[in-house]
Formats: sequence, C-alpha cells, structure tokens
Amino acid sequence: MPVDHADVVIVGTGHGGAQAAIALRQHGFAGSILMIGRDSVPPYERPPLSKEYLAGDKSFERIMIRPEKFWADKDIALRLGAGVTAIDAKGHSVTLADGSVISYRKLIWSGGGDPRRMPCPGANLSHVFYVRDKADADAMMAALAAGAKRAVVIGGGYIGLEAAAVLRKLGCEVTLVEMLPRLLARVAGEELSAFYASEHRRQGVDVRLACGVTEILGDADGKATGVVLDDGTRLACDMVVVGIGIVPAVGPLIAAGAAASNGVDVDFCCRTTLDDVYAIGDCAAHANDFAQGAVIRLESVQNAHDMANTVARAIMGEKEPYHALPWFWSNQYDLKLQTAGLNLGFDATVLRGDPDSRKFTVVYLKDGKPIAFDCVNTMKDYVQGRKLLESGIGKVDPALLADPELPLKDLL
Ligand code: FAD
Repeated sequence: MPVDHADVVIVGTGHGGAQAAIALRQHGFAGSILMIGRDSVPPYERPPLSKEYLAGDKSFERIMIRPEKFWADKDIALRLGAGVTAIDAKGHSVTLADGSVISYRKLIWSGGGDPRRMPCPGANLSHVFYVRDKADADAMMAALAAGAKRAVVIGGGYIGLEAAAVLRKLGCEVTLVEMLPRLLARVAGEELSAFYASEHRRQGVDVRLACGVTEILGDADGKATGVVLDDGTRLACDMVVVGIGIVPAVGPLIAAGAAASNGVDVDFCCRTTLDDVYAIGDCAAHANDFAQGAVIRLESVQNAHDMANTVARAIMGEKEPYHALPWFWSNQYDLKLQTAGLNLGFDATVLRGDPDSRKFTVVYLKDGKPIAFDCVNTMKDYVQGRKLLESGIGKVDPALLADPELPLKDLL
C-alpha cells in the first residue's frame, strides 16, 4: 500500500475536526491538512439531526458546517467514508480500514462517540434508530415517510426529548421511557426535569419514568414491532428511537497506548500522552476550569469548537490553556433552553420566574456561588448569566437571584 502524508491529519469530520481545520487556516497554517471521517458526506452540524433536520425544516445544505467548495478552496483535503483503524504513534502514521497508511506530523483526533446500544435482545432490529449521524436521521425520516406512526423513545436525555418533540410535531404517537425517576437526571436539577416532563405530557407524549426496557420485539422480517418494559408491559410500535448516551470513539488511541480513563486523557492544551497527538471534543477527558478542575468529558458543540481552537493555536506555537465557559442549548416544541456553566456538584438551586409562564431560569449554586444557569425562553438571563460566570462571581444573595425583575447584570 502506498504511504501518503499530511502535515496535520485530523480524524473525524464532525464539529471538532472541521473547526480544527478551519482554525489552522485562520491562524495561517500553510502545511497540508487531511481530514479523515467515517461519514460519507462533508462536515455537517449534528444538533439539527434531532431538531430541524429531522423535522424537515432544514435541508442538508443548510446544516453543512461550510459549503462543499470551502474545503477545496482552503486546500483542506477530505477523505470521506473512511475509518481509521490503527495509529502507529512512534512512526507517526495512521492506518485506514482499506489498509492505506497515512503519515502525519501532528494528529488531531476528534472521533466523538458511538451511540450506546441497548443492552437487551432486539437492539439491532431494523427500525431501531440511534441518532448520531446524518444517515441515522435519514433512516428515521424514511421510516416516517413510509408510514411509521407509533414511536417508543428510549432515554429521557436531550436527544430523546428532542426526538420526541419532533415526532409529536409530525403527528406520531410517542411513548418515552426513562429508566431513572426523572427526565434529564444526569444533566439538570429537579425543577427542569419536572418542567420538561409536564411539557411533554401536555404535548401528548406518554412519559414513563423509572421504567426499564428488557426487550425490543421484532417481526419475521427483523423489524421492530414493540418494546417490553421491566414491569412486563408491552408497548406496540412502528419504530424505536434510542438516546441513551455515547461511548467515546477512541479505540485506536487506546490501542496505541494513550492514557485513558473516560474517553482519552488530554492536558491543558488538548495533548494526549502520545507524541504529537491531540484529542478534542466529545472524546477528550480534560480538567475543566468551570467544573472546579474536575476531569470530565463534555458533549457539546461549544467544547468541540473551543478545543479545536486551542489545538490550532498550540500547533501554531501558542500554548494557551483551554479555558472556555461551557454552554449548550436544546430546542423542544417552542421552548428554547440555553445553558451556561456546569452544574456539577451544585448544592442549591434558585428559581427565577415561574415555570407555568414557560419562561424561567434555574440558577445552580455551590457554596453560595452561582455555577450554572438553565434558561428556558429567557435569553437575557442566559447572556447575562454567562457574563456573571465569566467574571468569576462569588457568593450572591439567593433572594436577589430569585427576583426576575432584577437583571442579572446588576449583580456584576
Ligand atoms: P462528532 O461531531 O460526533 O464527530 C466525530 C466524527 O468522527 C464522526 O463523523 C465519526 O464518524 C468520526 N469518527 C469516529 N471514529 C472514527 C474513526 N476511527 N475514523 C474516522 N472517523 C471517525 N450539542 C450541543 O451543544 N447542542 C445541541 O443541541 C446538541 N444536539 C445534539 C443532537 C444530536 C442528535 C447529536 C448526535 C449531538 C448533539 N449535540 C449537541 C452534541 C454535539 O453534536 C457534539 O458534542 C459534537 O458534535 C462533538 O463534536 P466532535 O467533533 O467531538 O464529534
């Protein structure tokens, strides 16, 4: 097999990979850049896959990270539909599934994650959809176009909830099954969980909490036809949507000897323990300043984007530590949730505004200091809350935070 070469090889053509290539060129990097990705289409945004794209409100062209010709214009080579299977860290090369070998000077790994599969019989039947790639959303849309009307969504995290909202909008009967006693249990406080449970119920979703799935049933053609719950209940359906998290896609890095605990370990400028190998985005476990230095992985566009910028700067010789305020959003029905900061280890919450008005903010506190804001249809709180967190605000009187008439910026 011929050995090819690029000065920077980027694995993954998602948010992190694409932004790394863009940022390198923006910083004047003149060497060759090759992006290798399993996706067969040019880089696109993933969030719309469970929102506007799935709903049919945005075309693929509108979710592309850059127009197709951008990559050639910037002399960024794309190798699509190609998976990297191995890394030779000493030899500075990667091997692809087709056996080709590509050498690099610097490697940026932005492999994201693979959807966690259901650990039960029937997990791989057809019409069981795991929403991660455009191909997954396209397959769901094809099933809907072919007449699927009853859906069971497994997982009450953001992806499951967004999919449920779109499916309701498209006229499906939706049952949402969550193993834990509340929705969004891993990422939000009880106020937000209760609000979204009641909103989804109001929109006609049958929300079942504290409820596990023991089997997905199928017909003779191998197509999902129902779900069995752990209390024996059988839910008939035409499709199953699974949103139960991801497994970081880091196999080749670990096989090459990179230190890894949860994903792959990276330092303050996203270097792995392998020479000249960086890792960014969903798969990168890093000490986060906004989690009081705890080592975490973040699954957000913000994190992938900002880590990509950190690495591009590092490659250009500016080793600035990764320090970016985490933010996130989720759209469900007409509700726009915007999150600033991380609520890890919060010990109190303050509610600003009334959830019944469908416009409110949950402030998360630790030792009396605000550490995160979940803002539902409260854009001003989000913008001003970010400023408070960026300023490193100390203790604040909860009564002031609770007053929705008092702009958060006045607390600066
Ligand atoms: P990805 O964007 O997932 O890119 C990883 C790429 O690497 C993939 O194309 C994958 O195929 C490829 N790859 C993996 N292994 C290999 C290999 N061995 N060889 C070659 N290629 C490989 N975040 C938000 O902030 N807000 C949202 O509202 C939001 N909604 C989301 C909705 C959905 C449906 C999904 C799936 C994600 C959502 N996210 C959201 C999360 C966000 O999309 C991710 O955090 C972000 O895409 C991470 O970027 P990344 O580069 O780390 O990984």
